[in-house]
Amino acid sequence: MTAEPLKQAVEVLRSARHAAVCAHVDPDGDAVGSVLALTHALNAAGVRADPVLASGDHAPATYAFLPGAEQYRTVASLAEQPDVVVALDAPSPTRLGEAASLLARASAVVVVDHHPDNALFGTVCVVDPDAPSTSALVWDLVELLGVPAEQAILDCVYCGLMTDTGRFSYSNATPRAFRLAATLAEAGARTTWVYRNVYETRSPAALALTARALDRLALANGGAVAYSWIEEQDLVQTGALQEETEDLIDAIRVVAGPDVVVLFKCSSDRVKASLRAKDGADVGSIARALGGGGHRAAAGFTVEGTLADAIAALMPLLPARPR
Ligand code: 5GP
Ligand code: MN
Repeated sequence: MTAEPLKQAVEVLRSARHAAVCAHVDPDGDAVGSVLALTHALNAAGVRADPVLASGDHAPATYAFLPGAEQYRTVASLAEQPDVVVALDAPSPTRLGEAASLLARASAVVVVDHHPDNALFGTVCVVDPDAPSTSALVWDLVELLGVPAEQAILDCVYCGLMTDTGRFSYSNATPRAFRLAATLAEAGARTTWVYRNVYETRSPAALALTARALDRLALANGGAVAYSWIEEQDLVQTGALQEETEDLIDAIRVVAGPDVVVLFKCSSDRVKASLRAKDGADVGSIARALGGGGHRAAAGFTVEGTLADAIAALMPLLPARPR
């Protein structure tokens, strides 16, 4: 990626009257970290900016510790149409959920993302598939905006980087990711504090949910695929929150053997699947074939139907070993 889109993005952002900063539905650590970091930076640059939810009516409980999380607004609660919409970590307008309705009447849309399948739907698009997280691109914007690297920005950018790289362990944990981590740590990011808040503040209910997912672990495709699932009643019975399902997939991906790991989250009429490749298989293109998307090593899709329907649609597309 050249520096030009970053410069154009900063120009648009500086001249915004009111910016809505949004990310994808069911926001993860990169989505929340990126949105809050950019909101803080815009406010510091004297630009009015609101973090806006694509789904739900409050920040995910799991990221409520991040500075500024209480400032999230729903689209319905915005008093006026923002003139600039920033779409972070979202490859297409549909991934913006309720916030997609803000696009049509905005005078400019700034897209900042690291998904390789980004539809380039902005007036300005900062899209870099080699970026370890969207928050890494937000950091580039922060630097170009020339605002001080305040504590809140450092913590939020670090949160996105740490979570999207799987605590610096996935294939996107590149030298660039480690360099940025060092830059943030040197500038004062509270790395241990962010880590503890993300990974060591689990509710007992979330652990009970994880136990169910682990207990159901099954193999398919001659052992090339491991999968598990949770149902709506698991949430009801354990008391775990929807946002606490985000890293169930991380609990099952540790199993030895499979090339691909899948977690199905089932509700009454649909199934959301999370796919992770352990050996270089391109699960992004498989998810796209089923109407979803994502990265080579981490992707997802949703199908209308039952768990059996989702398994029947997915397994033939995944790697298989001779039995
Ligand atoms: P997760 O499995 O954690 O929900 O998502 C993993 C990756 O796949 C993320 O980069 C996420 O944005 C992407 N992803 C998950 N579900 C969908 C989907 O339904 N559509 C698209 N386009 N991307 C998805
Ligand atoms: Mn991301």
